[in-house]
Amino acid sequence: MNASSRRNFLKNGTMVLAAGTSGLATACQETMKEPIQTPYINFNNTYQWKVTTTWPPNFPVLGEACNHLAQWIDQMSGGRLKIKVYGGGELIPPLESFEAVSNGAVEMGHGGAYYWAGKTPATQFFSTVPFGMNVNQFNAWIIGGGGKALWEDLYARFDLMPMLAGNTGVQMGGWFNREINSIDDLKGLKMRMPGLGGKVLDKAGGTALLVAGGEIYTNLERGVIDATEWIGPYHDYLMGFHQIAKYYYYPGWHEPGAGLELIVNKSKFEALPSDLQEIVRTAAHRSNLWIMAEFNSKNMVYLDKIMNEGEVSLKAFPNEVLNKLREYTDEVLQELVEQNQDCRKIYQSFDEFRKGMSLWSTLSEKNYYQNLMYS
Ligand code: CA
Repeated sequence: MNASSRRNFLKNGTMVLAAGTSGLATACQETMKEPIQTPYINFNNTYQWKVTTTWPPNFPVLGEACNHLAQWIDQMSGGRLKIKVYGGGELIPPLESFEAVSNGAVEMGHGGAYYWAGKTPATQFFSTVPFGMNVNQFNAWIIGGGGKALWEDLYARFDLMPMLAGNTGVQMGGWFNREINSIDDLKGLKMRMPGLGGKVLDKAGGTALLVAGGEIYTNLERGVIDATEWIGPYHDYLMGFHQIAKYYYYPGWHEPGAGLELIVNKSKFEALPSDLQEIVRTAAHRSNLWIMAEFNSKNMVYLDKIMNEGEVSLKAFPNEVLNKLREYTDEVLQELVEQNQDCRKIYQSFDEFRKGMSLWSTLSEKNYYQNLMYS
């Protein structure tokens, strides 16, 4: 990819991305709701909404998903709910969308919950946690394991209604110009890494920096940062990191399944006719599935390109390094739950669900990947 295509990929971009109460009663919440009353559909009663995003306009996968979301809602509603999509910075700066939706300046936002840690740190459990749940486990916790109620309760304070609307799956560990053979190799390392993973890196003696998406390539090229993580092969290739970094590490221990969200102004959502509310929920569900499928199908192709077009060495973090990072993660999480009551309550549900899933995940998915999958 040449510099001009990379600029095009990032155009207008100040993107910053790139991370219980289990049991039958909770699992049945979705199906035990009161049946929807037959809505009185008034086709003259239309709504014109706006969605703002934390991604640049038409950004591959993530921005594209917002365009699809608007189109699906338009088609399902017979044109009664029309949504205009704004990329980050077109109407609202990318990292101010939470506030803009909360105060009703726009009706919807698409982004990642860990961007709002400054509003309230417990949001981070609704994106991703280092060494936490993968996409399947996370979806199960939110949809059937009690996570949804906790998420809605937390966001209701901001007059927001959150919905699952995408996932990156397991990310890659990042791009380095030196090998990581022991935990000491992370000491003094300046690395672009957001969220809780960044706090873990700090504990390992590194320095985590949050660099806007449009600046990472130049910073890495000029040595302002020594390393960076981003997402996975597809987006990483488009960013051009394979041209300026020698080692591409896996796995993305810091983001094992970064959930993405659709946030809707709660007052405005509740003022919609019930059928339009369900149409919004359904479009968000579709976005959740579409984004994950799109990342997986593209990552497959672009991992191959990275391996064959450049001089990149694909490397796994040594177990010794991962084990140490897991210890530091436990410390970071412990500090978080000690400092904040919401974090304590939500992490309890998160952690109980993760532990409860362990046996089932081990004998189903893990066993399949290790012993049965074609490779
Ligand atoms: Ca990332």
